[in-house]
Amino acid sequence: MEKACKDCKYISKGTNKCPLCGGERLTDRWSGEVIIINPEASEIAKKLGIKSPGRYAAKIKE
Ligand SMILES: [Zn+2]
Repeated sequence: MEKACKDCKYISKGTNKCPLCGGERLTDRWSGEVIIINPEASEIAKKLGIKSPGRYAAKIKE
């Protein structure tokens, strides 16, 4: 099961800790997927506050 970080939205698998920000607030209640390849050139990345390439959840349900 893939989980998304509530703090930075990064999607990870088989871990209890976000590999990107080190946060432990992971959730499986997320939907949509955004793949960021070049954060500096991506409007979506700017909008979501993403600074590193990777896969991110578009929406996280509380
Ligand atoms: Zn994170």
